Amino acid sequence: MGLMLYNTLTRTNEPFEPIVPGKVGMYCCGPTVYNYAHIGNLRTYVFEDLLRRSLEALGYDVRHVMNVTDVGHLTDDADEGEDKMEKSAREMKRSVWDIAAYFTEAFFDDTRKLNVIPPTIVCRATDHIPQMIDLIKRLEQRGYTYVAGGNVYFDISRFDEYGRLALLDRQELKAGARIEVDRNKRNPHDFVLWFTRGKFEHQSMMWDSPWGRGYPGWHLECSAMSLHYLGEQFDIHCGGVDHIPVHHTNEIAQSEAATGRKWVNYWVHAEFLLMDSDKMSKSAGGFVTLGTLEDEGYEPLDYRYFCLGGHYRTQLQFSFESLNAARNARRNLNDRVVALQATLGGQPAPAADWDGPYAKAFLRHISDDLNVSRGVAELWGVVKDGELEARDKLAQIAAMDTVLGLRLLEQAMAAVQVDADVERLIEERGRARAGRDFARADRIRDMLGEQGIVLEDGPDGTKWKKVSRRV
Ligand code: AMP
Ligand code: ZN
Repeated sequence: MGLMLYNTLTRTNEPFEPIVPGKVGMYCCGPTVYNYAHIGNLRTYVFEDLLRRSLEALGYDVRHVMNVTDVGHLTDDADEGEDKMEKSAREMKRSVWDIAAYFTEAFFDDTRKLNVIPPTIVCRATDHIPQMIDLIKRLEQRGYTYVAGGNVYFDISRFDEYGRLALLDRQELKAGARIEVDRNKRNPHDFVLWFTRGKFEHQSMMWDSPWGRGYPGWHLECSAMSLHYLGEQFDIHCGGVDHIPVHHTNEIAQSEAATGRKWVNYWVHAEFLLMDSDKMSKSAGGFVTLGTLEDEGYEPLDYRYFCLGGHYRTQLQFSFESLNAARNARRNLNDRVVALQATLGGQPAPAADWDGPYAKAFLRHISDDLNVSRGVAELWGVVKDGELEARDKLAQIAAMDTVLGLRLLEQAMAAVQVDADVERLIEERGRARAGRDFARADRIRDMLGEQGIVLEDGPDGTKWKKVSRRV
């Protein structure tokens, strides 16, 4: 089945054709680890996970590379402001390295909870300084750089294609309509490849280079690492829409200027999550994290389910009302899948089956530029189908969930197992009571109570129910 993907480069839906048949090289801009990821950032990573899972469901072998930006990302994408990492380290009174390690771990904790498959390769910027220096050397040899005020700049006037991704107007670029702050730049859109003059006093992450001791520009990191891990041409590059005008525009300029040929075939961008009609931004302070949602009593997968409700190319408005609706729907879905699994009498869940009608329709929707919400409708379709047998339903659910990542069968199997264990313990308690071993019977009741299982003895035997242990 052919996958259609919307390519920002051409502003059209295009049939996806990988460079090497059956294989996909995919690069996703990773987090800048100076703080927790907010739920807007996480929407983008969930989308990238859906894209990767969809490609895999369609039979591709995906090499998914993601960077971790632990140096060089300034508070403004266009070289202004100070290094986000340094600023955060100063505010939190910790070293930049501590900040990076702590928030990298926090990021992967969040994505694990959201059932995002870890990238094939995660690369930290600070581990790839030699590759970045090599890339600047290549650009220098080809005449794309100049040094001014101690920094190395990329000269966009030398690169005819500059701004094509963002449809930047060449006249406007020449006129330099934007207010210029950095006097060293020949053109306001020129950008720094290597800083030796920090904009603040105590830059702690510095490396030797042919241009002096300093640190790389943020855009350079992604070009150097993606070229290193995916080669000089690869298939897909992802990120949020905010990266189109500056970050990705500059990545293209650096990479194509260095290699002299087209770099990435498909640029796929995720729209923003909106909160109170405003873009959520870590820099603006006061943002909602996955931890905030957990503190409010939501499970991370409730948020994943919420993200599945909107197409990746449309903005998604966050509200707790919508998150409640997602939670209720997911609970309902889970309960139904548990009920289906329970009919299998302790047998394991069936293997994924893509041949059933719902699973096939699901794959068609996914192939249509990742129409996940219509895919979710197929999932509900199979769950509610009055004709199909449980085993058949579960096999198609298993297939769809390889893309949706809601852990449906895993949770159902666990729940059915818990139910079986509870039943077994209740029987054991019954035997203890019959043998007048009340101490043992009480121990079993207490043990179950600790797991939130409440027993009610009545004339028809013992009934049990689960109570929520959340306060
Ligand atoms: P950052 O850590 O700031 O580099 O951002 C990480 C990723 O989140 C990037 O791909 C951004 O484009 C994306 N992003 C930032 N804000 C939002 C938002 N409100 N909604 C969705 N994605 C976002
Ligand atoms: Zn990037």
